[in-house]
Amino acid sequence: MRVLQVCAEIFPLLKTGGLADVAGALPPALRAQGADVRVLLPGFASILDGLAEAVEVGTLAPPAGMSASGARLLYGHLPACNVDAYVIDAPAYYHRAGGPYADADHHPYADNHLRFALLGWTAAALAQGHDPYWAPAVVHAHDWHAALAPAYLRAAAEARHQRMPGSIYTVHNLAYQGLFDARQFGDLRLPAHFFAMHGVEFHGRLNFMKAGLYYADRISTVSPTYAREIQGPEQGCGLDGLLRDRAHELSGILNGVDESVWNPATDTLLESHYDAARLELKAECKAALQRELGLEAAAGRPIFCVVSRLTEQKGLHLVLQALPALVAQGAQFALLGSGDAGLETSFRAAAAASPGAVAVKLGYDESFAHRLIAGSDVIMVPSRFEPCGLTQLYGLQYGTLPLVRRVGGLADTVADTRLETLDTDATGFVFDEFSAAGLLQA
Ligand code: ADP
Repeated sequence: MRVLQVCAEIFPLLKTGGLADVAGALPPALRAQGADVRVLLPGFASILDGLAEAVEVGTLAPPAGMSASGARLLYGHLPACNVDAYVIDAPAYYHRAGGPYADADHHPYADNHLRFALLGWTAAALAQGHDPYWAPAVVHAHDWHAALAPAYLRAAAEARHQRMPGSIYTVHNLAYQGLFDARQFGDLRLPAHFFAMHGVEFHGRLNFMKAGLYYADRISTVSPTYAREIQGPEQGCGLDGLLRDRAHELSGILNGVDESVWNPATDTLLESHYDAARLELKAECKAALQRELGLEAAAGRPIFCVVSRLTEQKGLHLVLQALPALVAQGAQFALLGSGDAGLETSFRAAAAASPGAVAVKLGYDESFAHRLIAGSDVIMVPSRFEPCGLTQLYGLQYGTLPLVRRVGGLADTVADTRLETLDTDATGFVFDEFSAAGLLQA
């Protein structure tokens, strides 16, 4: 089966979160099952730099509202990702000084609706034979950035009275929907009747996520529990009604770990390699971590770690509240994260208050994430909500016990330690109540 995966980021070329890990790992995993997978990506500088043997498939002539003058579609190979890729080379849209979605001050780009409409529109063009040598049987769009692909496919099917390739839309996080002003709908050149409750309209605004949820043939999300949770008002982010309507077409499929990247037996970023049979070598990783972070060199003190975006979603204020009691009980704590300025300041203060026991590294550092997870004893993920969560899976892989809240994919991947499960299926520690007391108790 020919599958076109449409996404905005892909590990290791461009990553802001778990989406990139999954986008990078899925094509080889599908290929191993016999699928013929290509990816379609926006031409951000790091993606274009990673594209080898590029040929031009043709110029793109998107509708007038998308004024990406001179946009070309390239096809080549991404050796770092081991996948063949189409890349939209539209410098006016994708060559920006800041990040992929927002400028250096974290303000979303004013033309984001156009930048990502072009991604969805190009996916639909490929589905209609833009590349004479290859066309997908299935278009697989990920998150709001790619969510217009199913809408453009539906528009083409209506205009041409033709069946189009199938489409599947995967929700990696329902909280990021791609909401825009209603006036911007006109720029997308979708049929006017698409701007309706049964379409992309959402409380008077334009909602990209809703386009994916409404027009795709099938919907998936990244864990069975999250698939259930988003059908309720608490976690449905206003889209639970639509998700309930489509419940029979919605599946929760757990994310997996790419073992070519996350495996302590082969991970070249580690001080020592280990596995379940050679756990004593994990202690070397721990000692190296304590040296690197200036933590007291004490093999017997458990290190609790966090690797995370610093946002409200992740429940990290519970960690801040629990820290003094954890440290008083002899634990060490280390965090790698970046994001919310208030959380960054609070964690910096916590490190200053407990030198030798608490260490905080602010910023984004892929290789340190590996050393931190390998060297720690426990990884904490106390999220308020969590579609799947990957760091607890990396913890399981590295013999670093996850301490998680029972929500979303965390509930599906970590089995709590109780007396009766200790020798059977326990894999970590799970708590329910969203409070520092709940976390500390676990
Ligand atoms: P989300 O996608 O909500 O951020 P996930 O747990 O699904 O959460 O995925 C997060 C991914 O980003 C993991 O691969 C994690 O290791 C990585 N990550 C998060 N913060 C950092 C950071 N500061 N430095 C390096 N990697 C990070």
